[in-house]
Order: sequence, then structure tokens, then C-alpha cells
Amino acid sequence: MAHDGGARGAEPGFRESVNTMFERAAALSGLSAGLIDKIRICNSTYTVRFGVRLRGEIHTFTGYRSVHSEHMEPVKGGIRYALSVNQNEVEALAALMTYKCALVETPFGGSKGGLCIDPREWSEEELEKITRRFAYELVKRDLINPAQNVPAPDMGTGAREMAWIVDQYQRMNTTDINGRACVTGKPLNAGGIQGRVEATGRGVQYALREFFRHERDVARTGLSGGLRGKRVVVQGLGNVGYHAAKFLQEEDGCVIVGIGERDGMVSGPGGIDVEKAAAHLRETDGVKGLPDAEYDPDGARVVELDCDILIPAAMEGTIHLGNADRVMAPLVIEAANGPVTAGADELLRERGCVIIPDMYANAGGVTVSYFEWVKNLSHIRFGRMQRRAEESRHQLLVDELERLSAHSGVPWTLSDNFKRDYLRGAGELELVRSGLDDTMREAYQAISEVWNARDDVPDLRTAAFLVAIERVARSYRSKGL
Ligand code: GLU
Repeated sequence: MAHDGGARGAEPGFRESVNTMFERAAALSGLSAGLIDKIRICNSTYTVRFGVRLRGEIHTFTGYRSVHSEHMEPVKGGIRYALSVNQNEVEALAALMTYKCALVETPFGGSKGGLCIDPREWSEEELEKITRRFAYELVKRDLINPAQNVPAPDMGTGAREMAWIVDQYQRMNTTDINGRACVTGKPLNAGGIQGRVEATGRGVQYALREFFRHERDVARTGLSGGLRGKRVVVQGLGNVGYHAAKFLQEEDGCVIVGIGERDGMVSGPGGIDVEKAAAHLRETDGVKGLPDAEYDPDGARVVELDCDILIPAAMEGTIHLGNADRVMAPLVIEAANGPVTAGADELLRERGCVIIPDMYANAGGVTVSYFEWVKNLSHIRFGRMQRRAEESRHQLLVDELERLSAHSGVPWTLSDNFKRDYLRGAGELELVRSGLDDTMREAYQAISEVWNARDDVPDLRTAAFLVAIERVARSYRSKGL
């Protein structure tokens, strides 16, 4: 449901929507008009059309890689596979990457890529051919490069595609010792990091936890108390929506009362089991027929369900002028990029709805991407140095468990695999999660402070833009632009 090129009457396209919200904040920044323009305008977008011989015929594909801001390099951002991909969308997403990276202080500029393709139409083998060819075109132009431009997964892509991309880069740059850092979100055996797959959803959970630690901010929604028992609706049970809903349900006591998907939506005021819904989705490609839940084929209506927290986790433009006045949630957290249009954003704010904005809410992905990139460049297992003390503590625990089990006569011992994973693997995951938690907490504190300190800052999005814009401006100033 992309809103592109003003398809919905008076509503502008995605890029204009992002720019409108940017301008509203920039006007409060005190920066010169020239510098504001420099920050807002997208530096470049490369369009490539390439042919691949498949099923006995040549098929031509169109792809993009947009570089929004190079105030820091490499630039960073995912590659999306969807039929709706277009230049306007890729540029809007690249701009959001600039602000997102600034907000969570990952030292990257903003970029984004996309390929017009429905990945469901092609086999794995065909997708590999297409991906390698697309990667070849981008590597040739330094639009994939560990020092200049580092893609990652986005909608329609995942670790599998990243593995093909890193292999393609390494074939073309056999002597680059840092080759593995040319892309993040890789599988573990290809230089990935633990906790990257769950990272964006995990970040949504940490963002909500931090929001609920700020009583004054919570009071603005009319809600009270903590996350426990809050009724949550999630639109899109993809990687981000699934992990966010799963963690909120399993670890924070939230009740998932609605789930929207491609084929419709399901609701259940008593709560829907996320794992069961995800399994049903895997098996049937939809949510229709999920036991103990009410099905409605009109999936777009999921955002109108009565709930405390709405999590749009599908794609841009799903909350627009046409439905914003029917959104009942007092709190919206944008797990997707750009799910609320500029027009809907204004309407919701006037009604007192609090929106935790995308550039903060879904920054968990790029934060853990940064950890992966650092791990690849350091050529040392992530956290290896810091973990010596930690490791001996774990070793003591393992020894103690074995001693106890021998002593109690219970017939089990710790397997070598468990010990190895416990000593080696668990450390990395713990480090990733705690690093992500710190990042999400600090970033929220920065934007909440601006929101509360300034009467002219009406919402969290404007506050987030202000923090991000100021940081990008600082880096342009120090570069001597
Ligand atoms: N595609 C994700 C995003 O929109 C991740 C980007 C990255 O890790 O570079 O934030």
C-alpha cells in the first residue's frame, strides 16, 4: 500500500512527506537555509537496468541505490525487493537512514537501495542469479564497499541475499581484507553477528520500555502504568513485526489483540498467540483461518482497532488522511519506515495521539549492523577482548553446574556443544542486546529532553529530527563544508 506520487488525492508522495516533516523541524533549528537544504537534498541516485537469462528468456530488472548524505562514510541502508520500489521511495528511505544513523550515533551517512521485483515469483536459484547481477552492478560503482557504502536487509531481503552479495563482492575484490564488512545482516557463518535478525523488533521493544520509564511522556498519551497488560495491535508480521510482537508478549506481558497481514486481519480481545499466528502464516501464507481469532479480509482496517499501542510494521503510507481519523490508539510506534504520512501525522497530533517516530523506533537494525561492521573490520570475535573476565565467570558457572549435577546424582552433564555455545555464543548475543538497549535508551533520552524542554516542539518526531539535524550539521561544520 505505497502512497506514491500523490495517488491519494491531496497527499504528496513518500519523499515529499518526509521532507515536509523535516522542514517543520528544520524551521526550529536555527540553522541557515543553505545548510538546511544541504542536509535535506538527496546527493545522488543511481538507476540500473540489467538483464538476466532465466527460464530460457532474458528478463530486465530495474534497481536503485540512492545516497542521501555523505557527511559520514560509509553510507548505510538496506536493499528492498518489492514490485512497488521506485526512485521516490528509495530516496525517502535513504533520507530516513541519514536521520536514523545520526540519532543513534552510528557513524554512517544515509543510503538505500531497491530492486523492482516480487521475490515470491522467483525460485531461490533464480533470486541468487538476479541478486549477484545486481550486486555486480553496484560493486562496480563503489555502491557496495566496506569503506563507502554498506547495504543490509530490508523488506523482501534477508541474510540469504546478504550472503550472495558479500560473496559477489569478495570475488570481485579478492585482496580486500575487509571485504566481509561490505554488507551487514549476513548469516553467522559468513561474518554475521548474533542478534541481527531480531534486532529491529528488539529495538522496538527496548524503545517502548524506555518510553514507559518516562512517566511524563506516558501521561501525554492518557495511558498509565507500565507495558504489562497493554493491548497491542501489529500491522505486518514480517521480521520486524513478528519479533516486536513476540518479545512484547513473552517478556513484557503485552496482549496482542490484532494482527494485520497481506490477506486480511485477525483480532482477539483476549489475546492472540504470536508464535501460533507466525506458524499459521508460514503454513498458509496468511492469517485467515487462525483458530480463536476473528478474521476480516480488509487488512488495512487493522490500524483502526481499539488498542493501547499500535505498531505499524509493514510499509510506508499505511496511516494516511483517508483513515487517520479512525485510528483509536493513543500511542503509535513506527516499526516500519514512514508508515504515517505527513498529513496523518498532523491530524493524529492534533488529536493528542503520541507517535514514537520511525527514525528512532526502528533504529535497532542499523545499530546492530554497526556492531557487525565493527566486528568484521576488527577481525576479532565481537567482544572477545572485553569478555575475558566475563568468560571466566561463565566458566565458573559451568564448572559449578557440572559439580552440582555430579553431586546430586542427576544423570545429565553439560554437552560440549552447550558449553561451547555458552562460553562463546551467548556472550556475543548478550553484548549485542545490551549494546542495543543502551543505544535505544540514550537516543530516547535525547529526544524526550528536547520534546519536554521546548514549548515550540510539538511532538517526538520534531524532537528526533532536531537532534538528528543538529548532529548532521555539526559533522558538516567540522568537515569544513
Ligand atoms: N533496512 C534497515 C533499516 O531500514 C536496516 C539498515 C541497515 O542495517 O543498514 O533501518
